[in-house]
Amino acid sequence: MRQFKTESKKLLDLMINSIYTNKEIFLRELISNASDAVDKLNFKSLQDPSVKIDQGDLAIRVSFDKDARTITISDNGIGMTAEELERNLGTIAHSGSEEFKTENAEQQGSDVDIIGQFGVGFYSAFMVASHVKVVSRAYGEDVAHVWESDGLEGYTIEDGERAEHGTDVILTLRENEKLDADGEAETYDRFLTEWGLKSLIQQYSNYVRYPIQMMVSKSRQKPKPEDAGDDYKPEYEDYQELETVNSMTPIWKKRSSDVEQKDYDEFYKSTFHDFDDPARTISFHAEGTLEYDALLFVPGRAPFDLYSKDYEKGLSLYSSNVLIMEKCDDLLPDYYNFVRGVVDSADVSLNISRETLQQNRQLKAIAKRVEKKITADLEDMRDNDREAYEKFFENFGRGLKYGIYSSYGMKADELADLLLFWSAKEQKMITLAEYAKGMPEDQKAIYYAAGDSRERLAKMPVVKGVLDRGYDVLLLTQDVDEFTFQAMREYVAADMPKIYEDDAAREAAEKAVADGAEPEVEDRHLELKNVATGDLDLATEDEKKEAEDATKENEDLFSAMKEALGDKVEKVAVSARLTDAPACITTEGPLSLEMEKVLQKGPE
Ligand code: ADP
Ligand code: MG
Repeated sequence: MRQFKTESKKLLDLMINSIYTNKEIFLRELISNASDAVDKLNFKSLQDPSVKIDQGDLAIRVSFDKDARTITISDNGIGMTAEELERNLGTIAHSGSEEFKTENAEQQGSDVDIIGQFGVGFYSAFMVASHVKVVSRAYGEDVAHVWESDGLEGYTIEDGERAEHGTDVILTLRENEKLDADGEAETYDRFLTEWGLKSLIQQYSNYVRYPIQMMVSKSRQKPKPEDAGDDYKPEYEDYQELETVNSMTPIWKKRSSDVEQKDYDEFYKSTFHDFDDPARTISFHAEGTLEYDALLFVPGRAPFDLYSKDYEKGLSLYSSNVLIMEKCDDLLPDYYNFVRGVVDSADVSLNISRETLQQNRQLKAIAKRVEKKITADLEDMRDNDREAYEKFFENFGRGLKYGIYSSYGMKADELADLLLFWSAKEQKMITLAEYAKGMPEDQKAIYYAAGDSRERLAKMPVVKGVLDRGYDVLLLTQDVDEFTFQAMREYVAADMPKIYEDDAAREAAEKAVADGAEPEVEDRHLELKNVATGDLDLATEDEKKEAEDATKENEDLFSAMKEALGDKVEKVAVSARLTDAPACITTEGPLSLEMEKVLQKGPE
């Protein structure tokens, strides 16, 4: 008996003891593995002329035996060698296995959540099966091997037989003694019926691109015997026939008007291992020199490893029904790394390796279009479904800001209008454009304060001071916020009411509007100003004079204070930025005190 690796054991344990109600997803997981295996062989045959397969033979087969309580999922894909059985089924190298450990320790019992965060994969079989047997023969090998396991105790690998390359996964379903979440006895008998399996395949695996075949019972009229008399009544007989159960047409090849959202949702969940529906579905077909279909999803929540270095972005790239690359990262900019989906183009050459891909002009063109579509869709959500957008932004906003910051502001044109910040005046999340629209005419800059809590920022005397002048202040609480603003330096607000320098021009414009002309608009360059640093230049002439006088009058006091505080302060001076607070601490130079604190702490 061989032992499972520690991480695998934990995942397995979770599956065996799962109270997760959606146990039926085991079938989708095993079918998706079968489809992957067929994909691999298909791809190999396209790259290596010595690998000869008949495309038309590629298929997945599902069968069951009610008395033996078994379900078998077979494929004629690439198969596994003994080493591969050991490696792939003894150790499930889920990218998040480390996180999984800690997560699991912290939230014992909430397996629904954990299962929801992983592509649960092969081990999900143990949610319903007490025994799992895998018979596999790798393409090009003469021998087959059998992997078997009853669960946590371990597994065995022995020599076996199989007529051709491919894999059979044979599950022996548990007896019905297990209790589900509500304490009811669970019955797995529903999986041991033709109808039960067929409907699961159609629900979860309809768009798998290879035929999923099942023997189904049918009934037909017997031929009329020659000697049948006048009173002959037609007789019927049952027979079995191999039937392709799934639709096979890739969902992204269908016109979006022909697909229901729930089918997109199901496709998304089964393909990308998410248990939540996507927040947005974007599908389009491009024609011209480069033809392709794209189906993209914005997840409803951030994958648990999105901000870890293990996270791999990318879209699945298909060409003529063959998966070329599972995560083609050239198709997505970093700041849209959360987007999942598929691009399928017959025009993309099949024999591409990673290196040549990178220079591939076609991919660049597709990526550009993909990015535009995503941006447009996010803008649409921002303008037409703000509640959903706020949720989206909570999940993925950090990445958008980081996109601006890491491009030294170069990406601000594309991304700035997708950002939301907390408005101290409106008490809600607003865009920079909304901030600009709400400005009094004399306001020249966008004011913000950065720190770790809104409550504390709102209490800062300098924030109050700016608010008291009728100007809104954005309260930034994410570490990346202030860096983002510094990278941007300014925000260009479009379509702002034109400000006229001299009275004559203004009067002429007012008259024109009165006569029916559209009011003139202009782009306004608004500096992004931290209320806690440098000179805000908000004081009126009188206030400035007053401050100057106060400075002169109190010269002795200030030098005494400076002497007492020593190196702790750079200087002590009168401030024109305060309204009702007696004193405040500010910094000079570009960084706020709050940000200096963040920097000293080091990044998260
Ligand atoms: P994933 O599919 O996400 O890689 P799984 O737990 O579903 O994870 O499967 C683990 C691995 O086992 C797969 O990556 C694959 O290498 C191998 N495997 C599983 N099922 C099959 C199969 N039917 N044919 C060939 N290899 C398989
Ligand atoms: Mg899998």
